Amino acid sequence: MEIAKILEGEVKRRENIVVSLETSAVGIFHNGNEKLVLGVRKNREPVEFRGRAVIVATGAMEKMIPFENNDLPGIYGAGAIQTLMNTYGVKPGERVLIVGAGNVGLILAYQLVQAGVEVEAIVEAMPKIGGYFVHAAKVRRLGVPILTRHTILRAEGGETVERAVVAELDDNWKPIPGTEKVFNVDVIALAVGLRPSIELLQQAGCQIKFIRELGGHVAVRDGWMETTVRGIFVAGDSAGIEEATTAMLEGKIAGIAAALRLGIADESWVKEIENAQRDLEEFRSGPFGRRVAEGIRKLLEGAGNA
Ligand SMILES: Cc1cc2nc3c(=O)[nH]c(=O)nc-3n(C[C@H](O)[C@H](O)[C@H](O)COP(=O)(O)OP(=O)(O)OC[C@H]3O[C@@H](n4cnc5c(N)ncnc54)[C@H](O)[C@@H]3O)c2cc1C
Repeated sequence: MEIAKILEGEVKRRENIVVSLETSAVGIFHNGNEKLVLGVRKNREPVEFRGRAVIVATGAMEKMIPFENNDLPGIYGAGAIQTLMNTYGVKPGERVLIVGAGNVGLILAYQLVQAGVEVEAIVEAMPKIGGYFVHAAKVRRLGVPILTRHTILRAEGGETVERAVVAELDDNWKPIPGTEKVFNVDVIALAVGLRPSIELLQQAGCQIKFIRELGGHVAVRDGWMETTVRGIFVAGDSAGIEEATTAMLEGKIAGIAAALRLGIADESWVKEIENAQRDLEEFRSGPFGRRVAEGIRKLLEGAGNA
């Protein structure tokens, strides 16, 4: 939260940066004059921004999973629960079942317990916990069971969630009859991963590839975060699912690269890009980052301007 405030302060100090809140980008177009046109919707009005570079940093969307009654009120994505608690100070409910034992599911469990909410269990379809051991150990110490090789079968309730039914999975990922367990919960939290928000990039004609390690479909881009459409850059989760540190480093690379492309930064800034690239490499050398690094390697194989 402090980092966000520092970055916001830096943006505000520069008078030539216009921050337009409650404004949705809806499309990127070419006007045939080397200029890109960004169509946005501001206060319901369509507005155009024109420029020679656009950086898309639209983040990610939470994945949902199909199960019976998954539209009952009380079923949330993990991000929605974090927003309720961290931004608005609102408890989502009294008793929660979490689906997904990656870092997000584990940290969410910890935060919910801190907020005085009972976490009945975390269920995880994989045979082992996906998140860091240290987070899993902390959650288990608080008495929250983590059931691996389990999934949610259905939510039950009248107007809202009253129960969650889970079951164990066999080697073919099929629920094993007779292993059903019922949890009396009023909230089911889905922490089953994210996918990059690439709609603008796809619409603008950037080459898209499916890279499992990066969270699904992503835009092909080079080491300077430029996509296959000249002048369109990408950074952060929209470039591949990772975390805040790498999002900031990628943002730095894309920002400097765009400024170099426009000729408003001199060549000495290339060093800054190289430093950020080195930091990214170091960050991705751990056991979790290695998977991302492999995804990026696959992605860079397809890089090159259109
Ligand atoms: C539940 C949860 C917990 C997490 N916990 C951690 C953690 O503890 N530590 C960590 O390092 N990372 C964590 N992450 C990951 C981290 O939040 C992301 O990696 C990081 O926020 C990515 O930054 P970003 O700027 O790319 O995207 P975001 O932070 O998602 O920002 C994207 C922004 O773009 C806006 N936007 C999207 N589309 C448009 C559009 N068309 N027009 C205008 N604006 C648009 C969105 O409203 C949003 O404000 C967590 C993620 C989740 C979901």
